[in-house]
Amino acid sequence: MAALDGLPPLRDVIARHGLDAKKSLGQNFILDLNLTQKVARTAGSLEGATVFEIGPGPGGLTRAILALGAAKVIAVERDARCLAALAEVQAHYPGRLEVIEGDALKTDFEALANGKPVKIIANLPYNVGTQLLVNWLLPRQWPPFWSSLTLMFQKEVGQRIVAREDDNHYGRLGVLCGWRTEAHMAFDIPPQAFTPPPKVTSTVVHLEPRLNPLPCDPAKLERVTTAAFGQRRKMLRQSVKSIGGEALLARAEIDPQRRAETLSVDEFCRLANLL
Ligand code: SAM
Repeated sequence: MAALDGLPPLRDVIARHGLDAKKSLGQNFILDLNLTQKVARTAGSLEGATVFEIGPGPGGLTRAILALGAAKVIAVERDARCLAALAEVQAHYPGRLEVIEGDALKTDFEALANGKPVKIIANLPYNVGTQLLVNWLLPRQWPPFWSSLTLMFQKEVGQRIVAREDDNHYGRLGVLCGWRTEAHMAFDIPPQAFTPPPKVTSTVVHLEPRLNPLPCDPAKLERVTTAAFGQRRKMLRQSVKSIGGEALLARAEIDPQRRAETLSVDEFCRLANLL
């Protein structure tokens, strides 16, 4: 493989720093720097950009982001064993990589952004990734502090993120993502591209904030989608009984015989706004 940056191959980095993958931290590393570049390119031009990376591990994606011209990468990593490997990347790109040892779920990314536009790029364990995604979609202030999210997920989670009405994968996550973002799946990554290989195919999802999403209270939207999709096979007259039932549906001019998965994102917002 052609050298990306003159730094040693990731396999050597992992061996030298004893970074045996820990299952408890969802560690499945990508060692192919051509592939990490492809992931990083999905975020658009990184020239001069500030990027937040979550879970850099041995630094494969970090190196791609820096090689593609990011002015500054702030990377949050929970595993202290990775810090020495990341220090080598820091030395290679002086002043351009800041590493924060910590739990991304407890990090205040908005404060870190400090008013500057940032792109977020990450290959994370899927449960952490989904929770972070939801957190990043929920601030009352919109547009948010980030200008794009480029995230790797299990393919099934990616399908739920981009799903819209009349799709089997459509549910609470699809409504939330569809309300506030334009989201698409960029490309799949097979298990064998990772060390060690996970059980399922992964996918890269890219999301950009809608500048003017329908005005709607996220907590109310959550109430409606939780009720509606809690009984997704039932008609809405039954599934939304606890939050207003037929009277609510009549006010929203929605046929009570429809099922949750046929409602558009706009219709969910309409219901939420009538709560
Ligand atoms: N970015 C590297 C790559 O693409 O090869 C590593 C990806 S690996 C799937 C996930 C990384 O996230 C690991 O380095 C792991 O230690 C880190 N991680 C797991 N949970 C985390 C958390 N809550 N906060 C920050 N980092 C986390």
